[in-house]
Formats: sequence, C-alpha cells, structure tokens
Amino acid sequence: AVVVHRHVSKSRRWGRAMEIVKELEEKCATPTWKLKLVADAMTVEMHAGLASEGGSKLKMLITYVDNLPTGNEEGLYYALDLGGTNFRVLRVHLGGKDGGIISQEFTEVSIPPNLMVGTSDALFDYIAAELVKFVDQENEPPARQRELGFTFSFPVMQTSISSGNLIKWTKGFSIEDAVGQDVVAELTKAIKRQGLDMRVTALVNDTVGTLAGGRYANSSVIAAIILGTGTNAAYVERAQAIPKWHGPLPTSGEMVINMEWGNFRSSHLPVTEYDFALDAESLNPGEQIFEKLISGMYLGDIVRRVLCKMAEEACFFGDDVPPKLRVPFMLRTPDMSAMHHDSSADLNVVGSKLKNILEISDTSLEVRKVVVEICNIVATRGARLSAAGIFGILQKLGKDTMSNGEGQKNVIAMDGGLYEHYTEYSKCLENTLRELVGEEVSESIIIEHSNDGSGIGAALLAASHSQVDG
Ligand code: BGC
Ligand code: MG
Repeated sequence: AVVVHRHVSKSRRWGRAMEIVKELEEKCATPTWKLKLVADAMTVEMHAGLASEGGSKLKMLITYVDNLPTGNEEGLYYALDLGGTNFRVLRVHLGGKDGGIISQEFTEVSIPPNLMVGTSDALFDYIAAELVKFVDQENEPPARQRELGFTFSFPVMQTSISSGNLIKWTKGFSIEDAVGQDVVAELTKAIKRQGLDMRVTALVNDTVGTLAGGRYANSSVIAAIILGTGTNAAYVERAQAIPKWHGPLPTSGEMVINMEWGNFRSSHLPVTEYDFALDAESLNPGEQIFEKLISGMYLGDIVRRVLCKMAEEACFFGDDVPPKLRVPFMLRTPDMSAMHHDSSADLNVVGSKLKNILEISDTSLEVRKVVVEICNIVATRGARLSAAGIFGILQKLGKDTMSNGEGQKNVIAMDGGLYEHYTEYSKCLENTLRELVGEEVSESIIIEHSNDGSGIGAALLAASHSQVDG
C-alpha cells in the first residue's frame, strides 16, 4: 500500500484519502445484476439446506412449529427473550377468540458483558434470578403451573418444540460449555435452582417468535426477518418441500424454517479487506459472513476500520493516528447511524461523535462529509444485500412473480434495532426490494414492522403447546 508520510503535502494526503474511499466504494458496489446473483445463490442454498442436514452453509433448521397462532390462544403465559445485549421477561394475558392480548407487562435487563463469555450456569442463573424477581410482582399466583415460551436467538438444532441443542454462539456470545447442550434443560435447571415452579413449553428463535407474533396480528404474514445486533430470517415452508424432514407430515402441511441466513456466504458477496480483517479478529472467524456484512453489531466497526486506514495511510485526521480508532467496536452502529443522519449544515453531529467517541477534535467540514460518505457506502451495501436475501426467499416461495392470486398480499414481519432505528438503512432496503421484484409485484409485498413480536410470539407458541390443564 502507498503510505503517505507526514512531511507530504496536504493535497497529496487528501488525494490518497480519496483513493481509499473510491476503492471502498468500488469494492462495496451492489449493482442490481449482482444482487440478483446473490438472491439466486440464496435460493439455491435454501434448497440445498432443506435437502439434507449439513447440505449447505444455510442450516435451514426445522423448528417444530407446524401451526402458527390462530387467535384462539387463551390464558396467562410468560416469555423470556434472550439474544442481543438485553433480555426481556414478559407476561402476556391472552383473551382467546376475538379477545386479543388483554394485557402484557415486561421488564428488560441488560446482560453483564462478562456473562456473555463465561459459563452456562452463570448465564442461566442470572436469567432465572431476574425471572423470579419478575414473577414475584404477580398480583396473585396462578391456579396452575406457569408456562414459558423461550426465545433464544442463536442457532439451535431442535429435537422437539420444547427442546434443542445449541449449535454455536453468534454475535457477542461465546460460552464454551453451553455448546451442544439442550438450552431448555439448562434454563430449567437454573429455574429449579431458584425454587421457581415454571415449565418451558416452547423454544423458539427470535425470527420464529416474530413470525408467530406477526401472524397473530396479520394472517398474510409469510416470513420474518430480524435486522438487529445479528440478522436472520424464518418463513413458512411446505412440509413436502423439506426432503430432510423424516418425521410425520404435519396436518397443516406446513413447517416453519429458521434459515440462519447470517451464515450465508457466496462468491458474489462484495467483500473488502476490512471485512476480511473484521472476520479474522472476530469471536467466530469464518462464520456468519452475511451477518458481518449487514447487521448492527458490525457496521460501525467496518466504518472504524476504513477511518483507521485513512488515518494510517493518508494522515486523514492529522499527523498521528487517533488511538481510539484502533480500538475494536469503539464506533458503534447507533453512532454511525447518528452521523449518517446528520442534516445540519456544518455536520455538528458528526463533529461531536468524532470528538466524544474517537477523541478526534477540530474536524473540518470536508472531513466530516467524507465520514458521512463512508457511513453511506457501508450502510447501503448492507441494506441492499439484505434486500437481495429477502428477494431470494420470495423466489424460493414463488412469490416473486404476478402468478399468485390477484390482490393477494404477502407480508414480511420485520424487527430489530437496525431496521427500527437506522432510517437510511431501512429506506434503502425497501427501495432495493422494490427494484428487485419490480413495480408491479412490489404492490403485493408488504414489509411490516413487528415491534417486539418475538417475545409475544413465544408466549403465543407456549399457549398453543401448553402441557398443563387449565
Ligand atoms: C443468530 C440467529 C438470530 C439472529 C438475530 C444471529 O446471530 O444466529 O439465531 O435469529 O442473530 O437475533
Ligand atoms: Mg423493537
């Protein structure tokens, strides 16, 4: 690489910086034709993952959810939602036919970072203790054993609707002794250690919970996508189209599939030197490559890496490299989003983020504009790739053409902080999806924000799989 040293003129430094940005832009380019190749690869891998266990990087996990909520679910149910930086405990009172959700309460607790990389017992004891605190706030104890739907947002090989073994951790988690274990058994043991009487009757991924919650609200929901710290998709598949399923054919004829699309990879994905470095230094090198290009845990760090190279090779922030730029995950995606959305004439927000987070002060307007441009390049690539992923699912389901029923709507339930809060990202995703499916078909595809549907979805599935007589 060309390294421009400090004695070099300001204009040569700037020139080198612009080269780095231009190269980034080229490497991150996602023209429509390329997105179509990505979508085709997604469709192909979906088939391969359904054909045989281990047939693809896409695990296409069988969820044992062969019935989605109907609206008849009734009673008081708990849910526990564990997946990102926080976990939630919910109590949902379901009203049965036409009753809807009568009431719901929840509490949200952040997970101490040391527990994300500690032991299985430590994590589950902590969760169970919070569960007890929440249950203690009940007005009156229920007449029967409490039942809980467990939303666990990591890849799990399910052995039934209420059991399954952790395949691997993703995102910021790495707890060796939990890998391969039945997470419901681990949670149940911790609940017992707390002396709480509660039974786990449904184990679901957050995408599956979101799909269930989305379907409860809208019967046209066919798939759910999470774009948050991590990313994933689940959808309703015809049981006949799952060659690797050797169990009894469900009466519904359907089975929800947890794709674990974060682990998708393809030679068509636009990857840069920054992505290679990020992956190599991550907790899970070689894994979750799609996730590392599009999800909230990583976008900010990609931007940081680009800025760091510009500081090193083009003295972009002055003679010295600001030390904070070398700290992994120093720049978080919410801060990147705030900079990207800065609409003030002098880019105040960019200036103060650079100063407060990265300790880079006195940046010129020109420099700030470049920072925004880098955020834009990285976010655009992520958003367009996620649209391509969705298009791949629509292709698999044959919903990418006008052939299926006039006026029929296909709704995709969407959730996650990235989707919810990073407006430039979600706008770009929606525009790109329209571009891929075409104006006409896009009328029939609706993206719906399912706010925190994953917890409610787990409570609904706990209700429909209740093992206790009311
Ligand atoms: C996990 C998925 C999860 C997704 C969104 C990914 O890292 O592997 O199971 O659905 O994050 O939370
Ligand atoms: Mg939300």
